[in-house]
Amino acid sequence: MNKRDEEALLERVAMLLEDPSHAGHPLQDALQALYRQYRAQQEQLERLISISDRYQQLALEARQVTQKRYERVLRRQQKLSRISDGYQAMMRERNQALRQASTHDPLTQLANRRLIDERLREHDATRRGYTLVLLDIDHFKTINDRHGHDVGDRLLVAIAATMREELRDYDLCGRWGGEEFVLLLADTAVSEAWEIVERLRRRVAAVCIAAGRRRLSVTLSAGLSEHFAGEAPDETLQRADQALLQAKRDGRNRSLTAPPPS
Ligand code: GH3
Ligand code: MG
Ligand code: MG
Repeated sequence: MNKRDEEALLERVAMLLEDPSHAGHPLQDALQALYRQYRAQQEQLERLISISDRYQQLALEARQVTQKRYERVLRRQQKLSRISDGYQAMMRERNQALRQASTHDPLTQLANRRLIDERLREHDATRRGYTLVLLDIDHFKTINDRHGHDVGDRLLVAIAATMREELRDYDLCGRWGGEEFVLLLADTAVSEAWEIVERLRRRVAAVCIAAGRRRLSVTLSAGLSEHFAGEAPDETLQRADQALLQAKRDGRNRSLTAPPPS
């Protein structure tokens, strides 16, 4: 029975109970009691429905609040993680830049003494064979004296670029100081290194830079030493330095190989 039919039936019963012509009828009391009880039950049911509705509404509101709060926290977390990713990328870049700055020469971008020392120690620890080469520009002071320090700098940059181009990827080429360079040629015997250095010297001698109307070029002298098992890297370096000194004494623009350690 739907709500309207139910209400119509109840109204009919109420009217019958109120009709004075039914007063004293034997069913009057029983019907009256039934009617009241029905009405009371109906009210109770409506109260329960209304309580349940309110409860459901509260539960829905609570769910919506929780959902909103959750979304807010999620958005904040996503923002934080974006910021943190940004910082991490920045730190990585800074670290790379720092590492590059601490291991390379700012003028020529070649490896600096620190990186070369590091590699020498690694080679020493792993007992890897290598040949060391020290190269020094001939009469570089006169370039500076005649054409100025800036021209000297440009020449250094051009020579460094040519050396990098000329060498194999696994060769280490560094700036040892002023106008001196060092090559660390891994797994390379001195005879092979000699060929590499001679080719390099020819290429560097062909490098020209413009200074006013003149074109400038320089030559290199080189000292080579092959590392001997059990020898300290400093000793290998010292022998290369001695060979370089001798190459200078012999007239420059040449390479000289150091004798084995005595
Ligand atoms: P040698 O053939 O005996 O090596 O003669 P040299 O003139 O090259 O030798 P010396 O050691 O007397 O002079 C090296 C010069 O290199 C002196 C210095 O002014 C110059 N030099 C060192 N570092 C730099 C630099 O970064 N830029 C410039 N432009 N010159 C530099
Ligand atoms: Mg020098
Ligand atoms: Mg020099």
